[in-house]
Amino acid sequence: MKRSLSGIQPSGILHLGNYFGAMKQFIDTQNSGEYDGFYFIADYHSLTSLTDPKALKDNTYNIVLDYLALGLDPKKSTIFLQSDVPEHTELSWLLSNVTPVGLLERGHSYKDKIAKGISPNTGLLTYPVLMAADILMYDTDVVPVGKDQKQHLEFARDIAMKFNQQYNVDLFKLPEPLILDDSAIVPGTDGQKMSKSYGNTINMFASKKELKKQVMSIVTDSTPLEDPKDPNNNVAKLYALFASIEKQNEMKEKFLAGNYGYGHAKTEVLNAILEYFGEARERREELAKDTDYINEVLYEGGKKARAIAQEKIMKAKEAVGIIGNL
Ligand code: ATP
Ligand code: MG
Repeated sequence: MKRSLSGIQPSGILHLGNYFGAMKQFIDTQNSGEYDGFYFIADYHSLTSLTDPKALKDNTYNIVLDYLALGLDPKKSTIFLQSDVPEHTELSWLLSNVTPVGLLERGHSYKDKIAKGISPNTGLLTYPVLMAADILMYDTDVVPVGKDQKQHLEFARDIAMKFNQQYNVDLFKLPEPLILDDSAIVPGTDGQKMSKSYGNTINMFASKKELKKQVMSIVTDSTPLEDPKDPNNNVAKLYALFASIEKQNEMKEKFLAGNYGYGHAKTEVLNAILEYFGEARERREELAKDTDYINEVLYEGGKKARAIAQEKIMKAKEAVGIIGNL
């Protein structure tokens, strides 16, 4: 069976971009029965941008709840916290020594975050090395991600090749990205990539009131109500995530005809979100009552992942000449 692995940072509340870019694929690959899925919460990664301990804890539990409510099944997939497998950071160190600084400085995500005013600590620069460790640790075949992570996947492959070459071993398998074309980059309320750290998200598990506020804040131009509008505007793009081709075309025609305002379209988007995530929202409320269950899922998942990681790290240490007595 092929192994699929991916993670999401608890750097905020999950949004439509995370779902359509990544999580939907986690669930689809799980349910196809063709993959052995490993899905983790990248809590160490989130420290590169999040400095509030309470928020980190809350976000972490929230993401596990989201995973489960949306259909990840701990009986079929291994769900765990990155920090419960400390071998990830250990491997990250080994890999950082075969990773040129120049490679990391070329990172799109790194550069985008700096451009957004996030102060670049060392962790933000070396983020892709830890990500490579996450992936290479488990002989991963495919990594379901959004398009923004494509380059990081290329880095992981480069780093794997470099290590294998440098130490003349065949230790790390080269992973392939799994990116869906039509939801590769979900736009945020401001039209840029929806991102937890950009404050432009629509959160499918927010309260109805909050969700409405987010949807209504989608930025549009000021074309008067009666005039025709660009059918590929932000609102229509978000609607396309939920609606059939016929429904999408209907909305486009209404925009082209005029007398159809952005407000009307936003209401359609809001209703589509509530309908699409209706069941998951209910399941999530139930799951939230049982924190013991959440801890149990993480404990079991962490144990399973760690056993694999311990074997791999031993081989990696051996390859570089670290003796290791314990
Ligand atoms: P941050 O702003 O802290 O980087 P994020 O919202 O980008 O958070 P990540 O945890 O970095 O979320 O990414 C988790 C997964 O969601 C990745 O696979 C990423 O490619 C995917 N993803 C994030 N945003 C989008 C988006 N707007 N469209 C499609 N996929 C996305
Ligand atoms: Mg991101």
